[in-house]
Amino acid sequence: MDEDLPLLGEPPAIELANTWYGEGPSAHDFLANVEVARRWASLVVGGDAHVDVAALTELRAAVRALFVAKIDGSSLDPEAVSVVNRHAAEAHASISLRVVGAAASSAVTFRGGAAARVATSCVEVLTGPDPIRQCEGPGCTMFFVQDHGRRRFCYEGCSHRARQRRYARSQR
Ligand SMILES: [Zn+2]
Repeated sequence: MDEDLPLLGEPPAIELANTWYGEGPSAHDFLANVEVARRWASLVVGGDAHVDVAALTELRAAVRALFVAKIDGSSLDPEAVSVVNRHAAEAHASISLRVVGAAASSAVTFRGGAAARVATSCVEVLTGPDPIRQCEGPGCTMFFVQDHGRRRFCYEGCSHRARQRRYARSQR
């Protein structure tokens, strides 16, 4: 089974929020299938991370609640915050010195499971300089970080669908 994953190249927390797509009966859960969930994790946080789908699913509910509250400007749910912090506490990173001749650079290595890494990303996104947005495409629920200009759509296809819908309305 090769399901097209809804990946946008966003920070891992945004990508996790987007593994629940749509609303109501037509909603799709990209973590429901363990194989698909593992493929998602290897693409988003790296193949070496331990994948606990139950942990990712729990974290996703918290991340989505926090993103929606942040977008609405309402207060962040303390329970969702504690879920994120509990997973983030499992993350471990170490920094090492890489030397090539006279040049030295640093490299950060992450350990800990996929949920820990995504929770870390959630803290970074929520406290970062760029606003979180939800796509304005018809029926689209994708989140993204508005890191340039006045981006309103998750990807070009959604912008195109929105134009088509406006055109269809104008022809009535
Ligand atoms: Zn969209």
